[in-house]
Parts: sequence; structure tokens; C-alpha cells
Amino acid sequence: QVNHFRNEKHIHVYGTDMPDPIESFDQLFKSYQIDKNYMENLTNMGFKVPTPVQMQAITAILHAKVMVCAPTGSGKTLAFGLPILHKLGEHKTGGFRALILAPTRELAKQIQSEIVQVSKGSSLKVRYLLSSKTVENRKKWMNAGYFIVGKFNMVITTPKKFVYVLKKFRSELSLKSVEWLVVDESDKLYEDGDMGFRQQLGNIYKACQSSALRTLLFSATFSKEVELWCQLNLDNLLRIYIGNINA
Ligand code: ADP
Ligand code: MG
Repeated sequence: QVNHFRNEKHIHVYGTDMPDPIESFDQLFKSYQIDKNYMENLTNMGFKVPTPVQMQAITAILHAKVMVCAPTGSGKTLAFGLPILHKLGEHKTGGFRALILAPTRELAKQIQSEIVQVSKGSSLKVRYLLSSKTVENRKKWMNAGYFIVGKFNMVITTPKKFVYVLKKFRSELSLKSVEWLVVDESDKLYEDGDMGFRQQLGNIYKACQSSALRTLLFSATFSKEVELWCQLNLDNLLRIYIGNINA
């Protein structure tokens, strides 16, 4: 029984119509037609079974808006990376369709590296947004203007950097194409930054105009502020907590 399985894995869920968790990656292939290529990459990465957060979050993300709280090291990157890659399907021009926000460059790069690994062999292009302090890098920024518009399917960056890009490339940059907005480590984003997470995220969220926008929030610890933001901004939200709720 599903609830028994969830209890066993310390998966706590809230929201209506939460889809069943998967017990194996194989089920994604059988029930969700995930590309075989992803299955092969997972095997090559040494991932034999999904972690609890992956079991529940992957199917939830394939269906709805999701807020996920699961400990550090529990495999959250793949929990959002895999279903988004699957939903993006093939490479398309006309703007990037997934925007992943993480609090630091290091975290953004880690996410990028894992997603590049799992998407090996697919036509999708995943990009980490570069910093722009030097002249050389500023040139890259110009290219950044270009890759934002056309070349890439998924962009991973920090909210601070992205707010800057939004200002700088306002005229060229349309976020109409963005269908997926992921806020990783959303609890930490709330804590730091001169401008404040709420304002940065608000700006970015407003700029994403697609009616098909799906917002996903991930964090390691429960945050009242993040939950409040979700309640105010997202309806029909599914919430998933892994482990001890009070941890
Ligand atoms: P979190 O974001 O929850 O802190 P990560 O997504 O960074 O965790 O994953 C932590 C580590 O676990 C990474 O090294 C990742 O490659 C590995 N990992 C993720 N999913 C699995 C899996 N299903 N089986 C084995 N290892 C995994
Ligand atoms: Mg993480």
C-alpha cells in the first residue's frame, strides 16, 4: 500500500492528488516513458535506486507545482533535474525553458555538472550563467545575451546574477519561454543577500510571463518564510517532506 511505503521511507505529503511515488527508476521508463538514455546515464552514474525524495518528487513534478523539503545530500538535484529534462524533451530554439536558481555559484555549478551528466546523449543544452567582473567575461556576457535568447534549454544561476541579467538585457531578454522555475536551497536564499530573496525572487517570478510556468521550491530545512511565499504565490501546490518534519 502506498501510504505504508511512504511511511517506511519517511515521505510526508500534503496537497490533493499527490501521485504515487516510484520504487525504482525502471518505473519511470515503464509508466512515464522517460527516455532510455536517461536510464543508462543513471546506471553509469552509479545510481541504482531512487532516494526517497526522488521517489516522490519526480512523479509530483511531472504533475504539479511542488515544494520539497529534504535533507542535504538526499539527492534533490536529480529529483527536479530528471523530470524537467524529461518534460523538456528535445532541444528547441526560441528561448530557454528552464531556469534553476541556487544561492551560490558553487551550488549552481554543482547542479549544472550533475544535470549535464544525466542528460548526456540528449539534445538538450544546459548552461551555467557566467560571472562578469572582467573585460573578458563581459564579452561572455554579450554572448550570454545571445544564449539566453536562443541557444540553451536550461539555465542555472544565482538569483542575484539573474536579477542583474534581467536589468542589463531587458530589451533582448524575454522570459516568455520559461516554463520551469526552480528555486533550490530556497531557505538559504531567504536568509542572505543584500536585496533579499523575497524581492529577487519576486522580480524574477514577475518577469516569467508564461501561463504554463511551473514553480518548484526545494530546501534542506523547513522555512516558514518559504512556505508563506508558496502559499501566497502558488495554488494547487503539492508539498513533500522527507525525514523528520522537525529536523
Ligand atoms: P541535495 O541537493 O539533496 O543536497 P544532491 O542532489 O547534491 O543532494 O545529491 C547528493 C549526492 O548523492 C550527489 O553526489 C549525487 O550524485 C548522489 N545521488 C543522487 N541521487 C542518487 C541515487 N539515486 N543513488 C545514489 N546516489 C545518488
Ligand atoms: Mg542540493
